Order: sequence, then C-alpha cells, then structure tokens
Amino acid sequence: MFHIPFNNQYASLGPSFYVETLPSPVANPTLIKFNEDLAEALGISTSDLDPDDLATFFAGNRIADGSVPLAMAYAGHQFGNFVPQLGDGRALLLGEVASPDGDYFDVQLKGSGPTAYSRNGDGRAALGPVLREYLVSEAMATLGVPTTRALAAVTTGEDVVRDRLLPGGVITRVAKSFVRVGTFQYFAGRGDLDAVRKLADYVIEHNYPQLCDAQNSYVDLFKAVVDAQAVLIAQWMRLGFIHGVMNTDNMSIAGETIDYGPCAFMDEYKHNKVFSSIDRDGRYAYNNQPAIGLWNLTRLAECIAPLFSQDEDSAVEVAKDILTTYQPAYEQHWLANMRAKCGLTTDVDKAIANEDKVLIESLLDIMAQHQADFTQTFFYLSQSKLQSSEPTSKQDSALPDLFGRATQFNDWFRKWRQRLSYETISEEQRQATMQAVNPVYISRNHQIEAAIRAAEDHNDFSVFHDLLEVLQSPYTQQEGKDKYMLPPQADEVVKQTYCGT
Ligand code: AMP
Ligand code: MG
Repeated sequence: MFHIPFNNQYASLGPSFYVETLPSPVANPTLIKFNEDLAEALGISTSDLDPDDLATFFAGNRIADGSVPLAMAYAGHQFGNFVPQLGDGRALLLGEVASPDGDYFDVQLKGSGPTAYSRNGDGRAALGPVLREYLVSEAMATLGVPTTRALAAVTTGEDVVRDRLLPGGVITRVAKSFVRVGTFQYFAGRGDLDAVRKLADYVIEHNYPQLCDAQNSYVDLFKAVVDAQAVLIAQWMRLGFIHGVMNTDNMSIAGETIDYGPCAFMDEYKHNKVFSSIDRDGRYAYNNQPAIGLWNLTRLAECIAPLFSQDEDSAVEVAKDILTTYQPAYEQHWLANMRAKCGLTTDVDKAIANEDKVLIESLLDIMAQHQADFTQTFFYLSQSKLQSSEPTSKQDSALPDLFGRATQFNDWFRKWRQRLSYETISEEQRQATMQAVNPVYISRNHQIEAAIRAAEDHNDFSVFHDLLEVLQSPYTQQEGKDKYMLPPQADEVVKQTYCGT
C-alpha cells in the first residue's frame, strides 16, 4: 500500500483558505521519474509499489491514504498589478508530511486538473514545463539553493491545448511551504485580519517553530522572511539564475525558489538579461531581482504589519525598520558568495572588502563586454594555476579565450593574482574551495530544450535522465560529460522561455 504519513494542518485552517478538490484522472499515466532519495528523506515508503502504481498516484488517478487534496487560495501582484484572487488553478496540495528529521514538507500535484481557481485555464500542465521544472528545481537543490523539490513526474497520455497540441504531464512538488506572499495578500485584501493572523500562526508553527515563544513572534517572522529572501536572491545571483516571474504569488514565505516557469541560468553574461517572453519591460531582469525581492517584501509588510502592534504608526515604523535591513543583508550575502567564487576567503576589514567588491564588479563588467559565459568564467578561474605566469595547458588558455583574448581581461587577471597573494591558504586549497562553489554543470537552457524535444517528439526520455544524472553532482567534473559544460552553439541558443501554462 502507498503510505504517506500525511497530516492535514492546512486543511484544518478552515474553508476560507482553500477549496477541497479531487484531481481529475488522466487517460494513461506513465511514470517518467520518481525521486527515490527524496521519498526516503521524507519517510515515504513505496517499496511494494511498481512504476504503474506510482504513476497512478502521481497523476492523481488515486489518492494516497490520509490525503485531503485541496486548492489553496491566494492573491498576488502580477507584474506590479494586484489581482485579488488567483489560487491554485492547476495544483493541489495533497497534505503535509513530517519527515523522520522532524521537518514539515508539503506535497503538491501540479497539472492535476481544474479547480475553483482555474479561471479560463484547463488545470493542466504540458510535458515540457514539467520536465523543465524537474530539471531546474533538482539542479538548484544540488547546487545548494533553497528550492521546492521534484518528487515525481508522469505523462498523462492526454494532449493539452496550447498554441498547438502538446503532450500533458503532472509534476509532484515538495516544499517547506506553498504559502506565498500572495496568500497573505488574499486575506489582507479582503480586510480579514483574523485570517492573516491565523495564516501567520500556521507559518510560524510549520516553518519557523523557533519563533513560537518569541516576545512578538509576528515581528520575528517578518524578520526571518526578510533574511531568508536576502539569502535566496544572493544565491540566485551567484549562479546567474533568473527566476523570470517574481510575482508576489510566486514568492514563498519559507524562502525557497518556487514556481519554475520561464526561468533560466544565464549562458553569456549580461547585467539585465531577461528570458521570459512575458516580461516585456524587463521587470524581472537578472540585476533587478534583488530590488524586486524588496518590493515583494514591502507588499508582505503591508499585510502583516497590523499584527505587529495595535498602534498603526508604531507598527509601520517596525515594518520600515525591518525592511531597511534587507538591502545591507543582501549585499553582505552577495559579497560573501562572490568573494568565495573568486577564492577570496580570508576575513578582511571593510576597506579590503570594498576593494574586493570593485574587483568582482569589474570582472562582471568585462564579462558583459565580451559576452563571456557566466558559469565557464568561474569554472576556469577555479581551475587556474597561478604559480606559472604563462598558460601551460589547454585549460589555462580557455579562460582568456572566453574574453576574446582581450587585454582588459588579462589586466583583471593580473589584479586578481595580486589580490590572491594576500590570501593565507595554499594554491591547492584555494582551487578546492573555489571548485566547491563554482559549478561545472548548470541546467543550461539549450540542454533542457534538447531533453524536452526528445521527449515530446520521440517519446525518448534518455536525454532527460542523462542530464538529470549529471546535475546530481554539479560541482564535480564527470567523465564523458563535457558536452554538458558547454554553452549553446549559435543554432542552439534559446532566446526566450515561455510561461508554459
Ligand atoms: P503561474 O504563472 O504558474 O505562477 O500561475 C499564475 C496563476 O495562473 C495561478 O493562479 C495558476 O494556478 C494559474 N494557472 C496557470 N496555468 C493554469 C492552467 N493551465 N489552468 C488553470 N490555472 C492556471
Ligand atoms: Mg505561480
């Protein structure tokens, strides 16, 4: 028997928070992938299930014991415009699981059929976006970025209608929480402060239990969410990751990357790179992400500040004070991450940290000028041997090649070498620490596209499986897998990604 030890705390919040909804069965569910390691970590036992049984459950054709499937209500600012009701239009929360480690995880089907919140949508997901979300979210996890995880993916045996007919899929996602900034906005927008408080209490108990006994746990919750967001976006930036649609309904209260739509890791570096076809003004461009994080947190503050104090003025002051901590916290995390990427690990005073910042920013400028590949630049920097002044191997010449052998880069490299001479660790240690934070492999857009093409056009999932396997160890160079390191050839470039709804 399929057993997930669900508890249904969210369901106990009451009917204004969700609509109980059963998944709509699909014609012919077939398992693409089941994440056994994750299932084990969650304490989900599936030992006596074969792939067909798993497909039946993860397509929503059968419901596991103890599950109360529901569509969560939420609102959200979409590209800056407030929409008072969005909600899970094609997703269903199956329930919460307490893992053997005592952490809570929410399990959700996405693509499982219409709900009360579907508006004009069909409640379904196309196979392509399912594979994309699986690959990118699992890549983020192994890269060490807070993220929702992928537990399973299935094909449905049914087509979905988009700009053309596409095969359908369902992804099962696991998150610390599926509560979003937009969930708070839903209740605040209706003036329902009791529901805002109830939701905050749920989030504290579920995701921030250490705050339960705080003097003002709502203030501390807001502080914790602000911190988590600063950490998260600094992680995205260190990897050249662009979320694509940072609407408030796509911002998790638990500080995880959530709702992978038209997202991508950059190949060639550009400060204000945009991938999403729907982001016409570049609101969610790479270098706008930190500021959008603050914008979204300000929307959250508007919802929960009334919980901080009875006195409106002092509540607003508290919220403002906390919001002002975001930018410095983000910058501190960013600098720490970027210094580590450059092998700058020793503690330094403020003046040198500032010089390091200038050094890093000038590298990014030169990368942008020469369209150097983001991941390859840092990969080859972390391979560089600094003892010899002349390039001695193919790898040594790969780095200047990324910059078209421009003198600007050589000048920068010289400055970097000079700066490294103040570091106290050995060359080997420096290389090892740099290699631990600079990935060899990211889930590159053109490779995801190749996996989708093979699956959609030829029912061939081997490309997906091979890529997923490589991404399990993103910081380790793997034999025979060099093609996954490479940026796209001119004809492979994916210029935009689509929302994929
Ligand atoms: P997203 O762009 O995936 O973050 O979704 C934004 C909103 O649109 C959410 O309320 C989704 O549930 C809803 N939505 C997206 N795609 C569909 C679909 N195919 N059917 C129903 N609702 C959808
Ligand atoms: Mg969303």
